[in-house]
Amino acid sequence: MFEYFMIVGPIKAIKTNTKTRKWQNALFSSQICKKITSTSYFMSKLTKALRQPKNLGIALGLLTILLGWLMPANFVEQWYSRGLFLGIRTMFRALDGWLPFAGVYLLLAGLLIWLGWRARLLFRKSERTWGQRILRALHALLGFAGLVVFLFQWLWGFNYGRVPLEHQMGISPHPLTVDELRNELLIATTEAVRSRQGLEIGEDTVVAKQKIVPNAEDLMRQELRAVLKQYKYPNPNGVRGRTIVPKGILLRFSTAGVYLPFTGEGHVDAGLHYLQLPFVLAHEMSHAYGHGDEGTCNFLAYLSCIHANDPYINYIGHLYYWRYVASEFRAMSPEAYEQFRKALPAGIRADVRAINEEMDKYPDILPELRDAAYNTYLQSQGIAEGMKNYDRVTMLVAAWRQKYGSKQD
Ligand SMILES: [Zn+2]
Repeated sequence: MFEYFMIVGPIKAIKTNTKTRKWQNALFSSQICKKITSTSYFMSKLTKALRQPKNLGIALGLLTILLGWLMPANFVEQWYSRGLFLGIRTMFRALDGWLPFAGVYLLLAGLLIWLGWRARLLFRKSERTWGQRILRALHALLGFAGLVVFLFQWLWGFNYGRVPLEHQMGISPHPLTVDELRNELLIATTEAVRSRQGLEIGEDTVVAKQKIVPNAEDLMRQELRAVLKQYKYPNPNGVRGRTIVPKGILLRFSTAGVYLPFTGEGHVDAGLHYLQLPFVLAHEMSHAYGHGDEGTCNFLAYLSCIHANDPYINYIGHLYYWRYVASEFRAMSPEAYEQFRKALPAGIRADVRAINEEMDKYPDILPELRDAAYNTYLQSQGIAEGMKNYDRVTMLVAAWRQKYGSKQD
């Protein structure tokens, strides 16, 4: 299987009496290089190399990437997403689900201590040259990266390869044409207006904060679990959607929330407007239930909001969706959008303005870098369209409405 060439020391003559043995002896003893085709030799070398944690990390990372490429979607769905991953959920519930604060703070503290310790190794007195030290540090970094990939994929990332939600629901989303998008915007507007009319608020003032449930996490988890149950997805209790501070820590990277596979928790930025927070919480908790696709998580968040018993949460779902459709339509047909926007009811315009003003408080840091990094990340997970993946929600909602219509109301 494996071939190895190596230089060996003086080769002892092999004592033998037979003619054949003499011939072999002469041949071998005259060689300086000896070719060894020994699997066991290779294995012993490999085992020795892997005893070094850095090499083990690199090997685990590479094998995990290979495995991710090889596993078919049905296999991932059955054995990972609906199998091992449910065990991982139970583990996180016991590990950090009960903490009064997000587990990520503990993780960051641990990481800083570890980095400090590694940096100390780099600067302490040593016989090694600086070149050797830097090489060792790079080796350690590569080993660490391999371990991160390994943990990321096994703790959650394999979910990217599961059977898409549209197959489970039996719907066929397709990219919308301008006309279809205009139609979708009209429907989304009608629904947003209708759900706002049912609220006890002024027709041209922003929805007051006091009207929104204070602990949206529990309510949104409950609503999301009901949606997952309806579409025959596992929906164990105990998933967390944490609100993290300082305000803007994610928003300054154009990110409203993030799911962290290493702690098993979803996070939303505390700087979000209260008319966004419940939707984003449901989105991040959808990730925690094993869905990687951004459009899918937006869609699950939308369904959780519009089917909730709380009319304010219904409105938040319709409004959030409206903003997605509107921004897509504006990109395709800016002039038509301006006309459309002027005709919107004053209340919705006030709510949208309030959200935008809140978001303007946290301008982007390095937006190009973030876009490039996040696109690369999504593409590495098999999502070719990159960040456009978020907009898939409009296709999913349109296809879902076509199949289920008003039966879901
Ligand atoms: Zn997401």
